[in-house]
Amino acid sequence: MEIHIQKCQNCRSRNLRNILVRDQVQMVYIQCRDCEQLVARYVLAKGGYFHAGKGFESFLRSVERDGDFASARDINSTYDEIEAQIQAEFDTLTEKVTTLYKGKLP
Ligand SMILES: [Zn+2]
Repeated sequence: MEIHIQKCQNCRSRNLRNILVRDQVQMVYIQCRDCEQLVARYVLAKGGYFHAGKGFESFLRSVERDGDFASARDINSTYDEIEAQIQAEFDTLTEKVTTLYKGKLP
């Protein structure tokens, strides 16, 4: 596993802005807040977006957009699983990043 904390390749700033775009696919453009250049663009996979703390209704809307799930019962259990899984992934990642950067996150 490789871990990187993104920065602007133009001015080296870490002051970045995420711009979310929903069209045929969902995309995230990363813009530097200091020099306003494009840093990166991500295209999200179906079901690939999870907005922490927004709850089941928000999750349901993203599932509807992706048109990916068979039944409401499945969606409910899936939401609980996904929420717990993503939080666990993030907790593990936070530990790794803290170790990697020796507690001095850039
Ligand atoms: Zn920049």
